[in-house]
Amino acid sequence: MKATDGEVSGTSLPDAPAWMGPALQNFEELVTKKRLGHAYLVISEDPLQAALFTHLIACRRLCQHDDATPCGTCLGCKSFANKTHGDLLEVKAEPGKSAIGVEQIRAAARFLQQTALYGHIKILLIEGAEAMTPAAGNSLLKTLEEPSGNSLLMLSVGEAWRLPPTIRSRCQLINLLLPSHDEALSWLVNDQEWEQAHAEVALSLHNGRAITAGTEAATAVGETLPTLLDSFTSVTRGGGTETSVPAVWGDVDISVLVYQLMAWCERQASGTDLHTLRVQAQHWFLLHRCLIELWSRLRTGAAPAKEVMTAEIFRLCRSTSHPQFSSIAEQFLAGLGKYGVAG
Ligand SMILES: [Zn+2]
Repeated sequence: MKATDGEVSGTSLPDAPAWMGPALQNFEELVTKKRLGHAYLVISEDPLQAALFTHLIACRRLCQHDDATPCGTCLGCKSFANKTHGDLLEVKAEPGKSAIGVEQIRAAARFLQQTALYGHIKILLIEGAEAMTPAAGNSLLKTLEEPSGNSLLMLSVGEAWRLPPTIRSRCQLINLLLPSHDEALSWLVNDQEWEQAHAEVALSLHNGRAITAGTEAATAVGETLPTLLDSFTSVTRGGGTETSVPAVWGDVDISVLVYQLMAWCERQASGTDLHTLRVQAQHWFLLHRCLIELWSRLRTGAAPAKEVMTAEIFRLCRSTSHPQFSSIAEQFLAGLGKYGVAG
């Protein structure tokens, strides 16, 4: 399996999946017509696709040749591939954290104010920009209001609604559609050299988000995913044999656990016939409601003690068929503050 494009890896330039060609071409036309703006907000239901797009644009802008695709041999391309280009700064939540802090944004603002080393452009990429804390967002606002002459700022997000409107309104929007099933499958099989069956499963697990599927499934999460999904089924089954938190829950990050459980709930609701749905819908939606609340707090920087949090999620999942589930769910939501995930 090849290294995936979600993260620019090694010393190679990222490849552009075929379906992203038109969006890249539209952007290049802005450059050709000298209508390039200072700030762009790239939105995709697949956040890693949005991030990949900003990397592809950065790579093209930093290439010292004027072609539509980067040459791969100039100093600009080589430094980009080595991640040593002095005119490019990438900002995202630091490892182990789920928020982008104000100091990161202040440092980025200072970076943009410096003179470009290679003379023509300075590029700032903010990946998962919706994870900025309110203070970080305010700090970025100043940079957006007074852009320096030769800077290009690109924010990539999966959930644009979570950004303050003041930031959204100061950026030009680029909406990227997800690939069709065939395009995504062809990319995973032909470009990433995956087995067809493996690709089909990964795509369905990630609801067609091909770049995320390609990235996550290539990591350990991909290997633990089937076990994780099985555990959701056995834990939520009334009277199941699971009496303690499944070991696999300890192997993944809490954000992965919550995200996958949320997606699993959605599939339960969408994959069932109407009669069953009528009986069970309330439970799935209540569970989903609790997870969404937890998820949104994790995304804005909450860092609960993992063991305590997974034990609470486990208790919640086991209770879905309990007659008092609605009050158990209420208690879960009311108790979030206790576990370090205050709203
Ligand atoms: Zn080049």
